[in-house]
Amino acid sequence: MTTTDAFSGLECVDCEYENKSESESESESGVDGPDETDARRCPDCDGILEATYDLEAIDLDRAELESRPFDSLWRYEELLPFARDSAVTTDEGATALVECSKLADELGVDRVLIKDEGRNPTGSIADRGQSVAVTDALRRDTTDVALASTGNDGQSAAAYAGRADLESHVFVPSRSGFTNKAMVNVHGGDMSVVGGRMGAAEDAYEEALAEHDDWHPLGTFDTPYRLEGAKTLFYEIVEGLEWEVPDAIVVPTGTGLGLAGLYKGAREFRELGLIDEVPALYAAQAAGCAPIVEAFDDGRAEHEPVEHPDTICGDIEIPDPAGGKLALEAIRESDGGAIATEDRAILEAAVAVANGEGLEVAPSPGAAPSAVWDLAERGEFDGSETIVLVNTTAGNKEADVLRSHLMGQGI
Ligand SMILES: [Zn+2]
Repeated sequence: MTTTDAFSGLECVDCEYENKSESESESESGVDGPDETDARRCPDCDGILEATYDLEAIDLDRAELESRPFDSLWRYEELLPFARDSAVTTDEGATALVECSKLADELGVDRVLIKDEGRNPTGSIADRGQSVAVTDALRRDTTDVALASTGNDGQSAAAYAGRADLESHVFVPSRSGFTNKAMVNVHGGDMSVVGGRMGAAEDAYEEALAEHDDWHPLGTFDTPYRLEGAKTLFYEIVEGLEWEVPDAIVVPTGTGLGLAGLYKGAREFRELGLIDEVPALYAAQAAGCAPIVEAFDDGRAEHEPVEHPDTICGDIEIPDPAGGKLALEAIRESDGGAIATEDRAILEAAVAVANGEGLEVAPSPGAAPSAVWDLAERGEFDGSETIVLVNTTAGNKEADVLRSHLMGQGI
């Protein structure tokens, strides 16, 4: 068995469809757990499939988790679909949660902490989802994996595929950063640089999948399992805060996977009795591509695609996010919010964090501190808050962009 005991299968988030594990015997595809044939999207309505667990069967308490080494996201094995000893892992997750007291003073709140996902093996939060999704690919009869990505997920997928001896096919838009493109090649991935923006890369990926029906898709929400990796971010944040639920978690938002993951993680921990409440979840987007903020401001449950995206924050320039609906649900149900700020303010915030706190934040995750500054200026805080900002990507991936901002200021 490669699946874990409590993992009970897949469920559509939009309809009643369920694909539950065979309990004793293997399914027709020869894989234990949900059948591969319909593991991409819901066969009834094309909705997103989510992994479900029999949480009542899980015996986890705070003391048990605290007794485990803080060594990788696989320390939450009971809450993941696959067993740790089957995992394709390079010890992703288990990142630092760094106290930023200067930021807290400037914002007029009690505490600000940065969850530094730049410390993951390939320098971004993408490693959480790719570790779990490539573990799934490996347990099947897969030889090739494929995805479209603004860059970090492509780099990460190429790394994990290489480790698992799978071929990876990565479709990135031409504007994707140099480090991402270079490292896809270095990890042995087959990279297609597609002219134009993310939409064009997604089209090329879909065409390639149609031509190669043996390729295993790793695109956002094309596999249920990236969400399973993403949710561990929440587990680590509350454990890192010694089980205090922060007042807000602010996440740079492109596809919506990060917010959806935090919300799923929070609901599971609450259901297990490990916490009592869900924190307010905030999306931070760039004003030049903010479909989730626009939908939130208009009170809509679904976003409308952005026709002409234009931001220097390439990581989060996702005009038509696959997880838009789930992200909006997470924001709404957690009583959170969504804030868009201009590129100049975002770069300013990334540089300020590097300068004042010593942490290296890439341009896109600069949207998180930028959003919080915006909230502070609007008088949203009373001074008692604990706020967690997620730094999704290491600053050195796009050091040139950060430095050019300094040059623009004449410093
Ligand atoms: Zn469905």
